Amino acid sequence: MSRSGLLTKKQAAEVFARLAKDRPDPRTELDYSDPFTLLVSVVLSAQATDVSVNKATPALFKAAPTPQKMADLGAEGIAPFIKTIGLWRMKAKNVAALSRTLIEEHNGEVPRDRDALQALPGVGRKTANVVLAEAFGEGTIAVDTHVFRVSNRIGLSKGKTPDQVEAHLMRLCPPEYLRGAHHWLILHGRYVCQARLPDCPACAVRDLCRFRGKTTPESPARPAASARGSLSVRTKPRAKKSAAAGAKTRKK
Ligand code: SF4
Repeated sequence: MSRSGLLTKKQAAEVFARLAKDRPDPRTELDYSDPFTLLVSVVLSAQATDVSVNKATPALFKAAPTPQKMADLGAEGIAPFIKTIGLWRMKAKNVAALSRTLIEEHNGEVPRDRDALQALPGVGRKTANVVLAEAFGEGTIAVDTHVFRVSNRIGLSKGKTPDQVEAHLMRLCPPEYLRGAHHWLILHGRYVCQARLPDCPACAVRDLCRFRGKTTPESPARPAASARGSLSVRTKPRAKKSAAAGAKTRKK
């Protein structure tokens, strides 16, 4: 461990190597066919499940597969397609507004640029990172609640904010693991290193982890391994998508 309390780069590389072992190429579970439909799907997924988004988007994208058609639909036209998704009113407005912005400022294309993405209605840093990584293959790490908690527990970060955690991860994560890091840490947080009761005896990185409240075989967590069948990221390369990119509803 380094003086800062963080793992060393070598230890961090070992953490990612172990987390990556069973899932070498994790991808988002959101269904999309190009950067625009990814952007819309990511926006719709704010505080909602990927499953709920995937149920709603086929009909929406059939009606409006491009920024122009989505803008033509407008918030009122988008709303009926997404009423099963939480925060649908705000999301309908944001999807319509970001579609107009793409047309007016980016020739109808999703920009491969963080600042331009974050300038879109409803798109924050986390969403921009997801889009940059998933759609364009950029080495970015989106920090959500799982990534934040797991990174701080293991010693990959000592950050008090998502931006600080992202900065630590970007420094410690080897380049070859950057694209998958977000997914591996989410999966680890969802199924092993759960918030209230981490399953430390079953954890692949327990010998490296710096968390002081580890559970033990004598005080085990409830079995988390049984949940692993419902991973929300794909573990194998998906069929070739036609392109890439996305965004979001509330700044996230
Ligand atoms: S040892 Fe425990 S606290 Fe540390 S990463 Fe594994 S499950 Fe989480």
